[in-house]
Amino acid sequence: MRIALFPGSFDPFTIGHADIIERALPLFDEIVIAVGTNIHKQGADAMSQRVRQIEELYRSESRIRVVTYTDLTVDLAKREGAQYILRGVRSIKDFEYERDIATTNRMLADIETVLIFSDPRYAHVSSSLIRELRSFGHDVSELLPSKK
Ligand code: ADP
Repeated sequence: MRIALFPGSFDPFTIGHADIIERALPLFDEIVIAVGTNIHKQGADAMSQRVRQIEELYRSESRIRVVTYTDLTVDLAKREGAQYILRGVRSIKDFEYERDIATTNRMLADIETVLIFSDPRYAHVSSSLIRELRSFGHDVSELLPSKK
């Protein structure tokens, strides 16, 4: 079984995240979406609410599971039997960040990271942008994935 862990804050899960999942699904037998707490980002939506949003979205997709975690991503990957970490890249800024984490994770646990470049249509979409728009009462539904 080729299992990929897709870790993130997903606060909230956006059309950009959903696009990465959709495009990565043919590459793996299973994708485990891991909702974590990023120590540098403040959580807006409660963890359980974020998980519910994602579970609801992929209810009919048996190859996608959702878990939560608070420890190191590589430790979770081991527990879940994931051989790969999946991440998305929007920009040079993401690239440098992802490279450092990928290198660290390979040093820590000999685990490979698979990067997928964002679709240009979604490269500007971030959870923080959505939180900001929401805080001003703006409708953000176009930036959130909807069930197919
Ligand atoms: P983290 O807090 O770990 O950065 P995020 O929830 O912000 O978690 O993002 C999870 C992953 O999804 C990261 O690899 C991030 O670069 C990627 N990602 C976020 N938004 C997009 C997008 N619009 N297009 C492609 N990848 C994205």
